[in-house]
Amino acid sequence: QATASVLELNNIEVFYNKSVQALRGLSLRVEQGQIVALLGSNGAGKSTTLKAISALLALENGELTDGRIRFDGKPVSQKRPHELVRAGLFHVMEGRRVFEDLTVEENLVAATYALNGRQGLKPDFELVYEYFPRLYERRHGLAGYLSGGEQQMLAIGRALIAKPKLILLDEPSLGLAPLLVENIFQIIARINAEQGVSMLLVEQNASIALAISHYGYIMEMGKIVTDGSAGFLANDPDVREFYLGVG
Ligand code: ATP
Repeated sequence: QATASVLELNNIEVFYNKSVQALRGLSLRVEQGQIVALLGSNGAGKSTTLKAISALLALENGELTDGRIRFDGKPVSQKRPHELVRAGLFHVMEGRRVFEDLTVEENLVAATYALNGRQGLKPDFELVYEYFPRLYERRHGLAGYLSGGEQQMLAIGRALIAKPKLILLDEPSLGLAPLLVENIFQIIARINAEQGVSMLLVEQNASIALAISHYGYIMEMGKIVTDGSAGFLANDPDVREFYLGVG
């Protein structure tokens, strides 16, 4: 059967320190061009899932011990993180990891370093500033002096400038005021629609995530317990009670 999945996880298992099992046979897929939400409570294993995909587990003594991960039709195991970036997979980590001692523009340039050979050397600043005019205003300022919301914009801008096929987004709403979250999620939706980049979106804030997603998965204790279209999940009574905080 032909598939348009940009990402496919089959029964993956992850252990930390060879002892703590964080993922227990997790499967999910992201279809080409879609935003897929990965929801669930604290400690369910959402960040671990993203790290398994982008080959960052080893940094925390984590290990993929079973299952298969295919990105763009090819297995990701054996690949190093920078090779995955070059192949079009960009992970925006939790907590707005930007280089605080570099300017906004230098942060954007740095995000393209891993890409040499794929798109040449000239970073497309305009593309980022079109979505984040605020970053244009602050382009010569140090990233460390940006507000939390601006740093999140920069973290997403760094992904955008790498022109990936898939962006893994870990908790973009974390620590931001509701109005700003609203604003950033609208921009994420526009980037998806206009640039055609697929996204796997990890969020605590289930209702705002489902509002911009095509499909969603809910995980508990290291595996998927429910999945469905975003509209279906947003209207499901159990999902509403346990994850959206409405009964
Ligand atoms: P959160 O929203 O709190 O980040 P999460 O759903 O992203 O939650 P993970 O951070 O993936 O969950 O954690 C899943 C499980 O793996 C938890 O039991 C956690 O304690 C454990 N875990 C996560 N990181 C590590 C680590 N570096 N070393 C050991 N155990 C870890």
